[in-house]
Formats: sequence, structure tokens, C-alpha cells
Amino acid sequence: AWDKNGKIWFNGEQVGWKNANIHVLSHVVHYGSSVFEGIRCYHNKQGSAVFRLEEHVERLFDSARIYRMEIPYTPAEISQAIRETIKTNGLKECYIRPVVFRGQGELGVNPLNSPLEVVIAAWKWGSYLGQEALEVGVDVGVSTWRRMAPDTLPNMAKAGANYMNSQLVKMEALENGYDEGILLDYQGMISEGSGENIFLIKDEVIYTPPLASSLLKGITRDSVIILAREMDLEVREEQMPREMLYVADEIFLTGTAAEVTPIRSVDRINVGSGGRGPVTEKLQQAFFQILRAEVDDRWGWLTYLE
Ligand code: PMP
Repeated sequence: AWDKNGKIWFNGEQVGWKNANIHVLSHVVHYGSSVFEGIRCYHNKQGSAVFRLEEHVERLFDSARIYRMEIPYTPAEISQAIRETIKTNGLKECYIRPVVFRGQGELGVNPLNSPLEVVIAAWKWGSYLGQEALEVGVDVGVSTWRRMAPDTLPNMAKAGANYMNSQLVKMEALENGYDEGILLDYQGMISEGSGENIFLIKDEVIYTPPLASSLLKGITRDSVIILAREMDLEVREEQMPREMLYVADEIFLTGTAAEVTPIRSVDRINVGSGGRGPVTEKLQQAFFQILRAEVDDRWGWLTYLE
């Protein structure tokens, strides 16, 4: 939900929501020249804390570097601006969207003659796939669209243009009555969801596709791997064929927006018994316990606003 009376950080200044506009001839509008982040801030008994702020800002700078975008701020300045934006808007719990894009300059494909703009917005956003989904799981279908091959659009960059691929997947999934679509990579192996990474559990081993399977290096994915290994669960980053989705005991999605969401069916075939599995539930609990400050923040994942 937008707060239209709120503020958006725009090139170093807090601008009124209604005045945070760009020109229609901005390079980004025509060619998708942007990189961005999605970050969450959680409110718990110790205050408001941004989850893995440093890693998100680092990924933003990595994305920008891939596209030769020189952000005219330091990572520390961007982190500070993110914290400020949350506070200025009086938000305790929110989703934060920093975006770096090519503005209005020249409209040739060459992006280097358009000025770089940096924007940070924050708003209240509930669970991406629905609160109920966290408990009962979602229904997904394997998309007919593939994830971009590594020599087409780099998947490690969280770039606006990559989400044209994600949009095709999401629209197809919804059209077919699914909550989300799962992409295969250019080799036909399992990659990820349109906006989430994917994990499978088979015979007590946790599997997730490796970077070679054309996916975004998710920060939630990394967090879940750390939590699973801490519990002495075996985690393997391995390329997997599509049919692993049909024989897995449990499957779940991870993402800043989706958090840890179980999958209950793939292509209308039930996953296990068709609900949230025990390993998924354990990992969800471990994840949410950190966010709620119910356990020690032993990896320093929370940056409190005060
Ligand atoms: N893959 C894609 C395509 C995504 O858009 C996202 C969301 N940023 C993810 C994976 C999950 O990444 P993270 O856990 O860092 O949000």
C-alpha cells in the first residue's frame, strides 16, 4: 500500500511522493536500463531492523557494475539513505525498493549518455504470495518460458529488464490457475521462480540449483542454506532435472518478498502429501525466529534503525 503523502529518496533528497517523477523519454522507459533491490524491514521486540542490509546494498552495487553504472554514492551512503527513508516515512515494518536507472539523455541504445538516477522508496507490504500461503503452500506450474541463458542477460544482476522474462512467466502461471511459475534454465534444468529461488527436499537432503542454472543469487536463499547447515541438514547446490519437482518430498520458494513459502503442487501433482513438509516448517521457524528476535542474531543479519 502506497502512502501518497510519504517521501521518496531521489538523488540524495527526500522528495514528496507525488513529485517523484521522471520524463517519458528517460532511457529506462525505453530499454529497461535499471538495476534494483528488494529489501525488508521487520519490527520485533527490539525495534525495527533491516534484514541483511549490507548484502542487499552490495548486490545493488554488483548489479550496477555489470551494467557499467557508476553509482555516485558509497555503499555506506546508500545504506544510510535506506534507513533514513524508512524513518522519514514513519514505517516500522516495510519493503524497501532502491532502484538505479538511466534517466533522460539521448535515446540511442548506448546508455552512457544518459544520467544515472538513484531512487529509494519504502512502503508497507505483506506476504507476497499471501499469509495463508506460508502455512498451506502454493500451487505452481513449470513455465514454457526459459530463464535467460548466461550469455544473454546476466542473471546475477538484479536488472529491471530481467523481469520482462519474469513477467511472461507470472502471466502464464496466473492464466493457467497457478500462483507462480517455475523456470527451467537454458539446459532444461530447474532454475527458479519468477521472483523466488527454489529448494527441494528428497530423502532428507536439501537441494537447490547452483548459480550455473541461471538464477539470481538470492539473499534469502543464502540465509536458508546457512540455517539448514547449522541444523546439520545436508544442503547440495546441484543442477536438477524437471522431474525432481515431481518426486521431491518437499519443495519451497525463498525470496525477500515471498520469505519461505512452501509449494504444495507442481503441474497439479501434489508435492509429498500436498502441504507444508516438516523440514520446510523447521526452516521457516528458524528464519522467522531470527526476524522476530526470538533467538540470538548470531550472524548479524539485522540492522536496527536506532
Ligand atoms: N530470484 C528472482 C528472480 C528474484 O526476483 C528474487 C527476489 N529478489 C529472488 C530470486 C530471491 O532473492 P532474495 O532472496 O535476495 O530476495
